[in-house]
Amino acid sequence: MSVFHDEVEIEDFEYDEDSDTYYFPCPCGDKFAITKEELESGEEVATCPSCSLIVRVIYDQELFMSGELVEAPSSTETQLELVQA
Ligand SMILES: [Zn+2]
Repeated sequence: MSVFHDEVEIEDFEYDEDSDTYYFPCPCGDKFAITKEELESGEEVATCPSCSLIVRVIYDQELFMSGELVEAPSSTETQLELVQA
């Protein structure tokens, strides 16, 4: 059974767009990290690469799983070509 060092809301994490990773300061001086991909797959444990501490991430999984804001492709192709026979 895992023992979490803390429970942290995702809003308190710092998001790094380059690596798609959320970071939260760890008491050891490093940072807990969890990727957006992991969140989308239901992962809720952020780990610190420098120590053995882990935190539980509080977030709305549905926002990540169904919230992939896939922008609708502009299917409104206005190709009204007037073909003159
Ligand atoms: Zn640490």
